[in-house]
Amino acid sequence: MIDMLKELIKIESYTKKGANEALHFCADWLEKKGQKVTIHDNNGFLMLTATKGKGEETIIWNGHVDVVPGHDEQFSPMVEQQRLYGRGTADMRAGVAAMMQAFVDLDENKLNRIVQLHIVTDEEIGGRNTSKWLVDQGFTGDFVICGEPTGLKVGLQSKGILHMDMTFKGQPAHGSRPWEGVNAIESAMKFHMATSELPFRKESTEYYDQPSVNLAIIKAGERYNMVPEICEMSYDIRYMPGQDPDEIARQMAELADALNLEMEYETSGASTPALITPEDNPYVVNLQKAIRQTTDKDAVLFGQHGAADTRYYFAAPQCKGAIEFGPVGDDWHGNAEYVSIPSVHEYKEILVTHAQAK
Ligand SMILES: [Zn+2]
Repeated sequence: MIDMLKELIKIESYTKKGANEALHFCADWLEKKGQKVTIHDNNGFLMLTATKGKGEETIIWNGHVDVVPGHDEQFSPMVEQQRLYGRGTADMRAGVAAMMQAFVDLDENKLNRIVQLHIVTDEEIGGRNTSKWLVDQGFTGDFVICGEPTGLKVGLQSKGILHMDMTFKGQPAHGSRPWEGVNAIESAMKFHMATSELPFRKESTEYYDQPSVNLAIIKAGERYNMVPEICEMSYDIRYMPGQDPDEIARQMAELADALNLEMEYETSGASTPALITPEDNPYVVNLQKAIRQTTDKDAVLFGQHGAADTRYYFAAPQCKGAIEFGPVGDDWHGNAEYVSIPSVHEYKEILVTHAQAK
């Protein structure tokens, strides 16, 4: 499995072509192991599905082989102290390799349910061409595991997305007489400093200390001798389960009013809600058992800050839980990305035990 993973890491899958090449590599490997694989194509993005077992319920294992760009040397896998370094080791070719090996290892006589393997190629650019497409085609399940790197912890929740694009309006004046105008950049600054006191930012939940508020984009100002009339400012807000994006937008708008600032805004991103898989979901309960059995440690449940392909699966009515769960690694999207090799073996074991649970 680790040798196969190393081969997979050599493929420069940060382009559509490269990701499709990685997909073919996975399909060939599975077929050589005697598995029946179907390759699908949507807008030139390839993905594969493979199915085993029978029964009333379906578990889906979802993994993506596309990666973000990396330095050349990151496509030459390197092992040091049980860590495998390389682009996409953690995020998430190790998860994919373990899912493939686990799929091969499944004993159909011990399977009381269907296990479906989904390998996709566009997660890093939004997942709409592959994971979302598969769900739209009816490839849905009762429970979904996305193999993102979680350190063998169970990511039960994820934050929702609210994007706010704001325009602050000032009043232009000559730069030598700024008191005669209203500086839109200063208005935006004043607003931003005050947002830290908004009620929605003070909230916390069992899984999260706070929502995520990132001031992502500012566009303003043209020349030294003018008081800027317009300042555009955009926020990427990740709200916690239980928070209402409309209420957050309302608090932001009310703040501008309270500060007497002229501000107009638009919201987007509402298609990504916050997700909750309940702790007492039977598949989560079984997963905790499988983790304990394999690692001798209690499972840790947590909430993920970012969004993953889980959101597409969760949209199907049949889906009662979609979690992120993957091996131990660090620095994904960074220069020293690695995955812990022992954790990849443990992860593979846990997947098999979980799928074959009574
Ligand atoms: Zn990922």
